[in-house]
Amino acid sequence: MQSTGDAIHITEQDALIVVDPQNDFCPGGSLAVPHGDDVFPIVNRIMPRFRHVLATQDWHPPEHRYFQTYGGPWPYHCLQGTPGAEFHPGLDTGPIQDVVRKGTNPELDGYSGFAGTDLADRLGRRGVQRVFVAGLATDYCVKATAIEAIGHGFEAYVLTDAIRAVEVEEGDGERALEAMAEAGAKLITSDALA
Ligand SMILES: [Zn+2]
Repeated sequence: MQSTGDAIHITEQDALIVVDPQNDFCPGGSLAVPHGDDVFPIVNRIMPRFRHVLATQDWHPPEHRYFQTYGGPWPYHCLQGTPGAEFHPGLDTGPIQDVVRKGTNPELDGYSGFAGTDLADRLGRRGVQRVFVAGLATDYCVKATAIEAIGHGFEAYVLTDAIRAVEVEEGDGERALEAMAEAGAKLITSDALA
């Protein structure tokens, strides 16, 4: 983790991607991430600093094959058009310029904001070169989004104080951080943003 006090200067080519800041991933939701709603004060604080602010929204059809009903790993969550799929009231949605819905293909896990979406094109049209990733959950959609951002040619920074892990297995969050760092993502905290 970058903790040398090096400030990272946000530029016009930087985008903040807020991953799945939705009710179902927060306490009380159907796939709650412990303390998931703790990320919102940090996200709210940093969003106005970015020229480009995008969010992903998990947006599943009921027949999604990653639901337990169909032998998948997950309980029903973020069903299209339901309150659980809405953004959490703790999130200030005002600064969000662009919402990318993902997980709409019932055959794909939909973890990454880039999977089956035009997120890479949207970032490209904006001239974005670096993405800063926050949101939920560290060990699935944050991890997949950060790693695939690198695959699409972006530099990726993960804001470790603005993410939380679901931890189906204890340690998944820590392993996800290692996987992202190994893939080339830089792990920073929000106070490094200058
Ligand atoms: Zn999902």
